[in-house]
Amino acid sequence: MILGIDLGTTNSLVAYYTETGPKIIPNRLGESLTPSVVSVDEEGNVFIGKTALERKALHPLDTAEVFKRSMGTTKEYVLAGKKYTSEDLSSFILRSLKEDAEVFLGQPVEEAVISVPAYFNDAQRRATKRAGELAGLKVERMISEPTAAAISYGLHEKAEKTRFLVFDLGGGTFDVSILEKYKSVMQVRAVAGDNFLGGEDFTTILYHIFLNKCKLDEKELDAKTLLHIRRQAEIAKKEFSDGREVTMKAKVGDEVLECKITEDEYEKNCQLLLAQLRRPIERSLKDANIKLSEISEVVLVGGATKMSIVRKFVTKLFGRFPNVSLNPDEVVALGAAIQGAMKERNEAIREIVMTDVCPFTLGTDVVVGREGGYMEAGHFFPIIERNTVIPVSRTERLYTASDMQRVIRVEILQGESRFSKNNMKLGEVEVPVPRKKAGEEAIDITYTYDINSILEVVVKVVSTGETKRIVLKKDDVTMTDEEIDARFEELASLKIHPREEEENKLLLFRGERLYEESIGDARRLIDHELQRFEEVLDKQDRTKIDKAREDFREFLDSMEDQKWDGE
Ligand code: AMP
Repeated sequence: MILGIDLGTTNSLVAYYTETGPKIIPNRLGESLTPSVVSVDEEGNVFIGKTALERKALHPLDTAEVFKRSMGTTKEYVLAGKKYTSEDLSSFILRSLKEDAEVFLGQPVEEAVISVPAYFNDAQRRATKRAGELAGLKVERMISEPTAAAISYGLHEKAEKTRFLVFDLGGGTFDVSILEKYKSVMQVRAVAGDNFLGGEDFTTILYHIFLNKCKLDEKELDAKTLLHIRRQAEIAKKEFSDGREVTMKAKVGDEVLECKITEDEYEKNCQLLLAQLRRPIERSLKDANIKLSEISEVVLVGGATKMSIVRKFVTKLFGRFPNVSLNPDEVVALGAAIQGAMKERNEAIREIVMTDVCPFTLGTDVVVGREGGYMEAGHFFPIIERNTVIPVSRTERLYTASDMQRVIRVEILQGESRFSKNNMKLGEVEVPVPRKKAGEEAIDITYTYDINSILEVVVKVVSTGETKRIVLKKDDVTMTDEEIDARFEELASLKIHPREEEENKLLLFRGERLYEESIGDARRLIDHELQRFEEVLDKQDRTKIDKAREDFREFLDSMEDQKWDGE
């Protein structure tokens, strides 16, 4: 049995092949999506998925997310005092999926096909493979995500020259790929995307509509309330469908505020975002030299394509309905499972992918002006965006930020975070500038990235013409077999929280979060119930635990609801 695994930025899934086609394997909580989140406690217990996500509310610093974006780099995440790379963290997710699959199938599984973005370069693919090995999985094949999505819709069985456009809108990224079946090979003809556009942006719009309608000022609310409103916006967003009106509620201070929003109104507010979706589509068509009318099918991938306003937009743009017969969350994992099955029969699909792209966003650090005139340092300014076809050269002009500034320091950064400190520093260049008022002196920064992954940075002072140059070689992480074995032993010694206890742990974390969110009687009551549940767990009597778990879950659900009744 070869598993198909979609190791996603926000969620991961595992699938297998049956006689009636590929199927998703539920995780230990009975769910198909496992959030790609890892949390580690002081004793070295590793929590994965929803449990880790719940733990994040209590221990944000010991919890890592979106680490897929650093795959193949040396970026380190420090969790409970220990360092992990993106590979290590991914291996925990894979280990947990492997275990879920083994329990579900009732047999050990050793091999998997893992999906990776089409634009992952060699270093990122090797890192993904190592993550598999660290999880005890043999990963002989990787499949690119759009190819996997396309084969779950049967592109490999279609006529020659059939072209699919894969429209993948996730939480924070948008990827468009054009695939063509050519001489029984799946060819990725073009990829384009936007790293800063996804479902979360649609949540932000709803969040602002709510603030506006309820006449709330963002600046006057505390961080916890704002986070709560955001969470409510996330829930409300999923309720929109085909013209429905949605009521969004949130607790602000002691009051529960609510407002009604029609889908039309929401759509109007999203016009700018929808317009942004057009650009990568146009670029990919242009790059592949294909007309919109030559696309035979549009395949939707990613949770955010469930939004009816996105579907309407796609239908209008392409003049036809997109193919939605499969769940957009699951298509990639299903495709990977098909690939696994075909590999077992020695007839795996061959694919040609584009890897000649700049794998990460390259940029610099800037100071940005905020309302009220104060300046905020530490913001990342992208110059070459991830996924740009190489070789590429881009120039940006930046200005002095303070009066009488004598030098401008250009930090060369790689990564996707809005904040420089979260990205990886590759180097820096300093140039002297004449002392003038802020904004009167400028530099031109040119980043050139070539096909050998060498980055050249040239900084030129506009007024004096003085130029400095620096060349940076690619940062490639390699590990010998011995190193992989040693790391395997190290990681294996960390205990992934036992699966039988997963639900209990999830409920305990949830109880603790609700405790923190409540006050007064509600808080005392939660404390009391938490203690009762913990006592039952200590006694280790299965039947009693099962009963107590159900009671405790009901109790937590009712407490969560009560937050709305104004307590
Ligand atoms: P992904 O990265 O593919 O897991 O996509 C996550 C994004 O999809 C998040 O922004 C979610 O809010 C969004 N999403 C998931 N399910 C739905 C839904 N039913 N309706 C609208 N958006 C959704």
